[in-house]
Amino acid sequence: MNPIRKWLFLIISFVVLLTLIIVVKQLLPEKTSEAKVSTENRAMNQFTPHTISSGNESQYTIQLVMGKDGKFHVDTTVNIKNTSNDSWEELMFYFIPNIFTKSSMEQLDRTLKVPGTVQMNKMTVDGIPVGYVLEKDTLSAPLEKSLGPGEEVSVDFSYEFTLPEDGLRFTKSGNNYHLAQFYPMIATYRNGQWNKEAYRFRGETYHTGFSDFKVSYDIPEGYTIASSNDNEVFPSQRVGTFQVNKVKDVFIAILEDPLVIEKREGNVSIRVFGFKDKEDLYKEISEVAAESLSYFQEVIGPYPFKQLDIVVDGLGMEYPGIVTVGSIFGHPVDSKSLKNMVVHELAHQWFYGVVNNDPYKEAWLDEGFTSFTEKLFYFSNSDDEIPFESMYKMIEGLEPLPVNLPLDQYENSSHIYGKSSTMLWSLFEKRGGLEGAEKFLKTYYDFYHYKEIDTEEFVRFAKYYFNLEDATEFESWLDIQ
Ligand SMILES: [Zn+2]
Repeated sequence: MNPIRKWLFLIISFVVLLTLIIVVKQLLPEKTSEAKVSTENRAMNQFTPHTISSGNESQYTIQLVMGKDGKFHVDTTVNIKNTSNDSWEELMFYFIPNIFTKSSMEQLDRTLKVPGTVQMNKMTVDGIPVGYVLEKDTLSAPLEKSLGPGEEVSVDFSYEFTLPEDGLRFTKSGNNYHLAQFYPMIATYRNGQWNKEAYRFRGETYHTGFSDFKVSYDIPEGYTIASSNDNEVFPSQRVGTFQVNKVKDVFIAILEDPLVIEKREGNVSIRVFGFKDKEDLYKEISEVAAESLSYFQEVIGPYPFKQLDIVVDGLGMEYPGIVTVGSIFGHPVDSKSLKNMVVHELAHQWFYGVVNNDPYKEAWLDEGFTSFTEKLFYFSNSDDEIPFESMYKMIEGLEPLPVNLPLDQYENSSHIYGKSSTMLWSLFEKRGGLEGAEKFLKTYYDFYHYKEIDTEEFVRFAKYYFNLEDATEFESWLDIQ
């Protein structure tokens, strides 16, 4: 090649190479954060969420009669369809009232001032009495003939109980009766077995799928009801019925002489039930509830009910369409903490109420997301920067455990609430802060409402959402081996 031709060849090669580089560069996504969001959104269009099956579908019919002496008589029918791939030889229920009896408490080495009582009068499967076994909160019954996939069965229970005083959730509180988990709840079935863990006094050790409920009640004169019923008036009827669908459980509070504050927020009626002469505080609670409800509806998705009841009595706890607030581990909280508790329990309506997860095996998915969402509300109300450094400091001294272990692997709840919400926040330190977090939460909720998620599915979603090649970012706080 002569020198001129050689130069010409080199120049042409250079121009071709340059053109190629420019073309390839334009085809590849840009790495700036702005462009990343749109890439993520486009990517999410291809994403299909997976749900974990409950292994069954169930409808409950509950007839509740309360006597003047505080004794309850309940008839419950549960229609259960086996949606797993296995044939069942037995049925397994949680029956939590039985935890608070004298004999169960003795077995658990605990005492109550006034224990509850339980008397199971009858259990039948398709009308035929069965030999059930009731051991602590586990109620199991063998099936005379195995129940194959897709087959249905109807189970009837007739029982009586009285409430314990200083019980947990299922308790008598002053003159009020808190009926939480007061009926046999069918357990989830997965991996070839019933998913039923032993009862614990910390955390929620029961896990159910979404079910439909028809409830009728008959209570003595002088009481009113606040419950998961979406369409309640105050004072309630003494005898009534209601229906609520697609919920994990149903809660009924039977209350004596509450002070009630009602407030509307959009199409939701908020009712605060108080029991002290603290009208101003109850008004403030209704205001913080309205404010956070409005924010959550805007940022996450619609509140799933038309009514939100807040019973200011007992420990902070969420139930479908109703929450209790007031104390933590038996200690009453101050008014600021009380309002924070309202925001927290309200956020659970989305994360527990609509996005389901196993609260025993992976409590971080509801408690961590709820704490994360609660902070989102506070940060959105402040002009300050998100205090990442102080959040990291708070979890500095914790044992270096992942946040997604079962409840029995922790000594306290710092990992499930604190570390998990902080680690969720850390995902947004360099990914858009508050706005990045809001967008993420909305997308997550859009994909998983009325589904059950686990850690593995969360990581699959997050990798897709953030366009990550691997899960390294989660390995320091999630056990995903
Ligand atoms: Zn919580």
